[in-house]
Amino acid sequence: MKYEKEINRRKTFAIISHPDAGKTTLTEKFLLFGGAIQTAGAVKSNKIKKHATSDFMEIERQRGISVATSVMTFEYKHFLINLLDTPGHKDFAEDTYRTLTAVDSVVLVVDSVNGVEEQTRRLMEVCRMRDTPVIVFINKMDRDGKNRFDLLEEIEKELSISLHPMTWPINSGKDFKGVYNLHDKSLLLFTANTKADDDSIVIEDLNSPLLDEKTGEKDAALLREDVELIDGVYGELNVNDYLNGKVAPVFFGSAINNFGVKELLDTFTRIGPTPRDRETSKREVAAGEDKFSGFIFKIHANLDPKHRDRIAFLRVCAGKFERNKYYHHVRLDKDMRFSNPYSFMARSKDVIEDAFPGDVVGLFDTGNFKIGDTMTEGEDFFFTGIPSFSPEIFKELVNKDPMKTKQLEKGISQLTDEGVAQLFTQFGGNKKIIGCVGELQFEVIQYRLLQEYGAACEFRTLPFYKACWLTSKDQKKLEDFLRYKQQNSGEDKDGHPVYLAQSEWFLNTEIQNNPDIEFHFTSEIH
Ligand code: GDP
Repeated sequence: MKYEKEINRRKTFAIISHPDAGKTTLTEKFLLFGGAIQTAGAVKSNKIKKHATSDFMEIERQRGISVATSVMTFEYKHFLINLLDTPGHKDFAEDTYRTLTAVDSVVLVVDSVNGVEEQTRRLMEVCRMRDTPVIVFINKMDRDGKNRFDLLEEIEKELSISLHPMTWPINSGKDFKGVYNLHDKSLLLFTANTKADDDSIVIEDLNSPLLDEKTGEKDAALLREDVELIDGVYGELNVNDYLNGKVAPVFFGSAINNFGVKELLDTFTRIGPTPRDRETSKREVAAGEDKFSGFIFKIHANLDPKHRDRIAFLRVCAGKFERNKYYHHVRLDKDMRFSNPYSFMARSKDVIEDAFPGDVVGLFDTGNFKIGDTMTEGEDFFFTGIPSFSPEIFKELVNKDPMKTKQLEKGISQLTDEGVAQLFTQFGGNKKIIGCVGELQFEVIQYRLLQEYGAACEFRTLPFYKACWLTSKDQKKLEDFLRYKQQNSGEDKDGHPVYLAQSEWFLNTEIQNNPDIEFHFTSEIH
């Protein structure tokens, strides 16, 4: 393998969580360990603080932060780690789902008080679709959380994944004494704001009086009991089960106190996957191939309306990406080169000469890219597994200024290329239908259409509940169905037919009545 050394030292992952579980705090601690930042508080939360109806500055602020923190690259113990940021707000969940296509593994943060929450569930569903390896960090052990066994059971059951504890907590809340590292057989005593460097105590034999001395007899006895139970149930972690997304190693800690974080990071660098091979429309592409290939998973518009260029985020999947070299844009069948590709170090954007599998490169784009686009050295294939999901809210896009029709069309086309929302054109009536995951996205669209394209629009709520992509082996049956259901059907931006269901009942009825048509709940973007 030509680039073996580079590939083997790279780990590309994302931290995911329900808002407030501690993703930002954990990110910051990782960056501190990586030396990418020097002080706590340097990482801005990318949360939208309130559900701001009119607070558009908040939306802009959020966009600014999410450009700056999209990818955070740092080195830790000779590894080069790319941490991809994901928006926490549920209205931007699709953005998160797409980012998950560009990582090789995730760290899931669970709040020990709240347990599994709504976003945790949905994010994990996406991870399971791709068998993404997951490490779980149970955070806020300094608070009175749920019983540790109950919590593990809840996570296993609700997220349908087997867990494997790597550390084990001694109490929680104000009685929290620390964690016992089941792998290293060392005890890590809890101290707030520790640097967590070398204050662990090795206890090869749990019966050692040292344990009683450090934790008190009662807690020592409890820990011995717990560990015996856990050892009996779990044994050694099977790393392959983790890499195949079957088993998730679990750590307990407290991000804000930088406690248990180093254990997590050390294990992540030890067992976390290096850039993985990827499926394409033609064949599997191995990360170790000589020839470059990669795909666009995110597009960001420039915040300055005078410069309409955008930044397309390219995940390198194989080979070496080089500055100023011509690559093939498969969808457009066009060769392109990039004179200013940049990487994202946590503090600054740097123009780079080359990049390797696992890396994310920022490309200036004048409108050539859509999410899901593949770049190669000439071969014709595209990376699969970058689906769009059915939106949850559907509204008709109504033009408020007929003089600006062109601007509106251009604007909505570009915004949907960016993945801000999905656009469908209804067959009967030709309505432009915008589908989003959350109300906030409609506000973003309306605001940006006006600010960036000078086009005023409003939205009219439509009674749809889900969009399903349709395929059939019998083309005639599909065409008949679409003609018959004109009001409830249309095409997505790429011309693929969709059925817009009013309710679950309607959807199930149509599925039953049309056995020759397949209803898909996600679409590959191509
Ligand atoms: P995010 O929404 O997942 O990014 O969560 P944040 O990292 O912003 O954390 C949400 C809140 O929880 C903040 O007020 C943090 O200070 C707090 N927090 C994070 N980690 C801990 C922890 O270990 N213990 C306690 N008690 N609070 C924490």
